Amino acid sequence: MECAVVGGGITGLAATQFLAERGVDATTFEAADQPGGVIQSRTVEGRVVEIGPQRLRLTPGLGDLVEAVGLDDATIEAAEAPLYVYADGRLREAPLDVAAFLRTDLLSWPGKLRLLAEPLTRRGYPQESAAELFTRKFGREAYERFIGPLYGGIYGSDPAAMPAAYALESLLERERAAGSFLLAFGKRVGQGQQSPPISFEKGNQQLPRALCEAHTDRVELGTPVTDVRRAESEDRGRYLVETGGGTHAVDHVVVTTPADVTAELLDGVATGVDGLAGLTYNPLAMVHLTADCRPDGFGYQVAFGEELHTLGVSWNASMFGRDGLYTAFLGGMHDPEMVGRDRAAIGEIAREEFEAVMDSGAEVLHVATRERWFPAWDRTWDALAGFETPPGVHVATNYTGRMGIPSRVREAREVAESIAKTGR
Ligand SMILES: Cc1cc2nc3c(=O)[nH]c(=O)nc-3n(C[C@H](O)[C@H](O)[C@H](O)COP(=O)(O)OP(=O)(O)OC[C@H]3O[C@@H](n4cnc5c(N)ncnc54)[C@H](O)[C@@H]3O)c2cc1C
Repeated sequence: MECAVVGGGITGLAATQFLAERGVDATTFEAADQPGGVIQSRTVEGRVVEIGPQRLRLTPGLGDLVEAVGLDDATIEAAEAPLYVYADGRLREAPLDVAAFLRTDLLSWPGKLRLLAEPLTRRGYPQESAAELFTRKFGREAYERFIGPLYGGIYGSDPAAMPAAYALESLLERERAAGSFLLAFGKRVGQGQQSPPISFEKGNQQLPRALCEAHTDRVELGTPVTDVRRAESEDRGRYLVETGGGTHAVDHVVVTTPADVTAELLDGVATGVDGLAGLTYNPLAMVHLTADCRPDGFGYQVAFGEELHTLGVSWNASMFGRDGLYTAFLGGMHDPEMVGRDRAAIGEIAREEFEAVMDSGAEVLHVATRERWFPAWDRTWDALAGFETPPGVHVATNYTGRMGIPSRVREAREVAESIAKTGR
């Protein structure tokens, strides 16, 4: 049995590892000359900066992968620390556990009681937006000052534009199983299911790099796939994967590329690829700052309604001991024009706003912008209803599955298992 993996981001490289573990003959093609996809770490003026995900949750599944490539000793685990929300002129603790819920002044007591009434509200339903669902179930105050900024801030999204059916699918399932969101959350906390945030000494890209090095004979960097089509005559049932270097006949193709690329590659092989081509991605600007302040915590998100361009700031300094480093996120679905501005101007906005919030001087170290960075999980996902792949073509992506790195690794493992099981 032969297999091609298209894309050497974390999904493709985890699939490479899991296929190898199962004895499947696979080659991974990555268009860029380095592995990792959106996971990019760079050293700027002696500091490790993340131009992509800032941290990974060390779930058991991710832990196994880290161990398999010998990165245990390079792991940096963040200690438990608070997360803040900037609201009404200062940082206030996000109520992520019972003690923080009782002591925080982010929510008023009526706001807290309204949040606690969630089990008495009607169940979430797929047709409402994430914003409608959160507001209806937890109250407006909790939505605007806590849940909305944390949830939307993660991916630069606006929960008002995200149908619950797509954005909250797994949360709705957990609500169904537990009876309410709060009970589901309590159950998880009670079972100790929180996995610690981690990074690696050389940054998050150390993981895809290690995977790539572990499989140098199976990963071809700088090799974009240009076409995937069905084989004919005696090779019927197989696929031909085209790269600049030649044509590769395989039994299985695992596609992990961004939606627009996948639409092009699978045109003529899968049905409903036009829907893929039309998926919205959120634009984002990421500004790395250095500052002398030494706060303790993971960072902050900005409450809805505040007059700031900044969506949130990760405190890399406090989380992973990255000397004086902070990463600000701007733009997103709320402010798509931001990424079109001059980089120096974006850096200045981030710096000024950081200084005002943190009451500390700061310097701009690095600015990165992308027009299409996060899948938006908005109404354009309606068009995916018609998307279907034939047997042997497996799509494992962060727009058909969940976005977080642990989920990407889990999906890669599931795909590898299902391929190994077919035996052809
Ligand atoms: C800015 C940002 C911050 C994030 N923060 C977090 C976080 O803190 N924690 C977390 O868990 N998750 C986070 N995520 C989500 C997570 O990082 C991504 O969902 C995940 O890394 C996506 O990996 P992937 O391999 O599925 O896709 P990608 O990383 O997009 O990889 C796809 C690969 O396909 C390659 N490719 C494209 N075209 C071709 C072609 N024709 N032929 C061959 N290869 C091709 C690309 O070069 C790329 O390497 C974040 C995402 C972003 C964008």
